Amino acid sequence: MIPDFRRTKIIFTVGPATESEAALESLIRAGVDIARLNMAHANHEWTRAIIRRIRKVSARVGRDIAVLMDIKGPEIRTGDVSVPLELKAGEIFDFTVKPGADRENAEEVRSVDVNYRDLVNDIRVGDTVLVDNGLIRLEVLEKHNAHIRCRVLIPGELKSRRHINLPGVKVNLPSLTEKDRADTTGGLEEGLDFVALSFVRTADDVALLREFLAAKKSKARIIAKIEDQSGITHLEDIVRAADGLMIARGDLGIECPFEELPIIQRRAVRACLANSRPVIVATHMLESMISQPMPTRAEITDVANAVYELADCVMLSGETTIGQYPLECVRILDQVARRIEREDDTENREVAVFTGDRMKMLHSAVVLANQIPGSKILTFTRHGFMAHGLAALRPVHSPILAFTPHEQLFLQLRLLRAVEPFLIPFATEPDATIENAIAVLRQTGRVVPGDKLVVATDILSQDRLVDSVQLRAVR
Ligand code: PGA
Ligand code: MN
Repeated sequence: MIPDFRRTKIIFTVGPATESEAALESLIRAGVDIARLNMAHANHEWTRAIIRRIRKVSARVGRDIAVLMDIKGPEIRTGDVSVPLELKAGEIFDFTVKPGADRENAEEVRSVDVNYRDLVNDIRVGDTVLVDNGLIRLEVLEKHNAHIRCRVLIPGELKSRRHINLPGVKVNLPSLTEKDRADTTGGLEEGLDFVALSFVRTADDVALLREFLAAKKSKARIIAKIEDQSGITHLEDIVRAADGLMIARGDLGIECPFEELPIIQRRAVRACLANSRPVIVATHMLESMISQPMPTRAEITDVANAVYELADCVMLSGETTIGQYPLECVRILDQVARRIEREDDTENREVAVFTGDRMKMLHSAVVLANQIPGSKILTFTRHGFMAHGLAALRPVHSPILAFTPHEQLFLQLRLLRAVEPFLIPFATEPDATIENAIAVLRQTGRVVPGDKLVVATDILSQDRLVDSVQLRAVR
């Protein structure tokens, strides 16, 4: 086993706390795999500058990381308020869908605008409105032409542009907004590796984004974020339609009863493994570290749980955007993941269902590797199929050393559990490519003579490419 090898990958979100060259450099050196740009808080110039900066710093450090753009989809937000409104328990409060809507007792009842025109049609009296990640809770009392009247149940301070959740309401907003299209277009010009779509409700939402990317001739991969009840209902279809899944626990924990959250997480991870799709566990992993240098015991256990569940990635949000200890957060994820990964829990391993002969062949490669302690899996991949298949089979101890000639795929492979990607040109003779790859591995100390390699690749046989599994020893 490669001593400094971590299977679980780390995504961090870029923000004021981490956007400087020096901060990016320290995080890349500490082993982050993917940088996430959250388009709720980003304009196009910033996005452009940050992507360029990430590429520049990665090149300097000699470790390229992937870039993921998180677009917001049908997110409901409040408009601007000139000063924060202190909402009191029991207070009557209005949400308007048109600025200056005609309201009775308008001088007594305070209000804020929301970006959701159909609110008054789609909501029912008695429904709950949650503001600012569920911090403020209101109950709908009345519906009017251009506003709803509510009572504050849990008080709090309402600031500008706060996120609103309407649990159980089928929100009638486009899945891919004009802003999403503009954000994506700008990002693609700088070269995005992943686009994560928020509030994916059905597989059709993924198809929309896929069409959009295809029209732009982009090979960016799609991560579907499940964040509400509709996303959970259509989980299997969404997983199959997307290239990966993010369990967006921030919104999920508001849109669903919170005791369902661990159950949903486990189900979602399994659905991804069964369909050979990577999965990201996101949000609040080390939330207390936004302002403290040490995680809580519960947070450590949560990170460990994601690793035990065999997730591909863990993700940091506020911890690295506005937090005081971004580097410490990455170090702690790294440390916990490595320790838990050493607990080989073969019994609990549930792996992909094997439809298709190629997947069955990859399965035999992983079974072979599992039987040879210290073995490494070597694969060669042009479209990523082999690497994704092997990663989904979750080899017990062998790292997957994945070679590709394509730069973007090389970066995209950073998402996959236990995969270490390498970028090399492929020779016309597959065997020469294998020899070149082994030379790279020897030079970089990844393998030493005598190491056993399980190689999953195509080979040339009488002018035909055939899939093969080989066992080789490094000379
Ligand atoms: P967000 O998504 O950070 O864009 O809200 C993640 C989540 O809801 O957990
Ligand atoms: Mn969210």
